[in-house]
Amino acid sequence: MTTIKLKPKRDNPTRHRHPWIFSGAIAEVKGSPQRGETVAVTNDHGELLGFGAWSPESQIRIRMWDFGDCAPIDETFFNRRVQDALAIRSGMTSRFETNALRLINAEADGLPGVTVDIYDTTLVGQFTTAGAETNKHTIVKALMSATGATSFYERSDGDGRLREGLEQMTGRLAGDEPPNKIHIHEREVNFEVDVRLGHKTGFYLDQRENRRIIATYAQGQTVLNTFAFTGGFGIAAQAAGAAHVTHIDISGTALEQAKINASLNVNHEAVTFQKANVFEALRTYRDKAATFDIVVLDPPKFAETRSQTMKALRGYKDINLLGIKLVQQGGLLATFSCSGAIDPQLFRTMVTEAAHDAGRDVRILSELRQAPDHVEALSFPEGFYLKGLLCRVL
Ligand code: SAH
Repeated sequence: MTTIKLKPKRDNPTRHRHPWIFSGAIAEVKGSPQRGETVAVTNDHGELLGFGAWSPESQIRIRMWDFGDCAPIDETFFNRRVQDALAIRSGMTSRFETNALRLINAEADGLPGVTVDIYDTTLVGQFTTAGAETNKHTIVKALMSATGATSFYERSDGDGRLREGLEQMTGRLAGDEPPNKIHIHEREVNFEVDVRLGHKTGFYLDQRENRRIIATYAQGQTVLNTFAFTGGFGIAAQAAGAAHVTHIDISGTALEQAKINASLNVNHEAVTFQKANVFEALRTYRDKAATFDIVVLDPPKFAETRSQTMKALRGYKDINLLGIKLVQQGGLLATFSCSGAIDPQLFRTMVTEAAHDAGRDVRILSELRQAPDHVEALSFPEGFYLKGLLCRVL
C-alpha cells in the first residue's frame, strides 16, 4: 500500500477526524497510487494517522475512510459503516412517518463521496469521489443486503465527478429496474418521485421537517411557493388546508410533476402553477401590490464555492427583499439557503438587511435546518449546509 507522509504540523485536522487532506499538506508520496486506491497516511514522524482514498485530480487529494491504528478498508469495513448509518437512523421512518429517507450522508457517515437515499424499496446513490467509485460495488452490496431493498439505481451525474476526473454515470446497479415513478409519503402528504430525472437523487428529503413545520401554519392561508420543484412546501401546505397555493418554478418538467403531486392530495382545487423566473415573477407581484399570507423562498445553491459568496449574497438579498414585501402584514416568511459557503450568521445578516430595505419589522419564530436523517458530524462542520428562518413579518 502507498504511504503518504504529511508536512510537519499539518496533521492536526486528521487527528481531529476531519476527513479531508488537501494537496498542500502532503510532503511525500511513497509509491504511485491509482485513482481511488486506499493509501496509508502518516505524520512527518511516520506515525500512522489512518487510511484514505487517493484523488489525484482533486485539490482534496485524500478523503479519510478511518483514523488511527484502524482495521483494513475492506468489505467488513464497508459493511460496518452501512450498519452504523442504519443504526443512527433506526426508528426514523416511523418517527417521521415516511417511506423516504437519506441513509448515507457522505462524510458525516464516514463514507466520503457516498450519498444514498431510499424511496420506498428503491435505493438511489451518488458516488462523487474516486474512492467512492472504486468501492462502489462493495457499498451497493452492503446496502442491498442490510436494507432488503429491491433495486439500487445510480445517479452519479453531478459536477463533482468531473472534478475527480470521473465520467458521469447513471443506471441500475443492483436488483430490478426501479419503477418510473415511486410513490412516497411524508406523514399524510403524498408525492411521486422520478429517480431517473428528478434533481439529486430525485427529491429534496432535506426539507421534510421544514415542510411539516410550515404546513402547521398553513390552514386557511394563501401561500406563495417559490422555487417549487415538484411542489414540496406548497403540496404540504395544500394538504394542511391552505386557502390557495401558487407554485413558481422555471422548469416545466418539475411543474408537471408538481401538478401530479397536487392531484395526489386533498384540497387540490386551490392550486396555481406558474412557469417563470422567480426573480422576475416576484417583481411583477410587487408591482401589482399582491400579498400572500405565507411566502416560501427555497432557491437552489447560489454559491457553489466560497469565491462566489458575494455574488450569491446579492441574489439571496434580492429575493428576500422582494419576498418580504409580498408578505401580508403579520404573515410568514420561510427563507432558506442550501449554500454551505453561506453560514447561518451571514444568512441572518442578509435577511436582516433585506428586512431593513423592505421597511418591515421581522421576528424570528424558528431557526430551520436539514432533516435529522441528513446527519452532521461534529468533526465535519462542512456537512451542515441547509439553513433557514421562519419569520413573522409585521
Ligand atoms: N422547494 C423544493 C426544492 C427547490 S430546488 C422542494 O421542497 O422540493 C430549486 C428549484 O428552483 C428547482 O426546481 C429549479 O428548477 C428552480 N429554479 C432555479 N432557478 C430558478 C429561477 N431563477 N426561477 C425559478 N425557478 C428556479
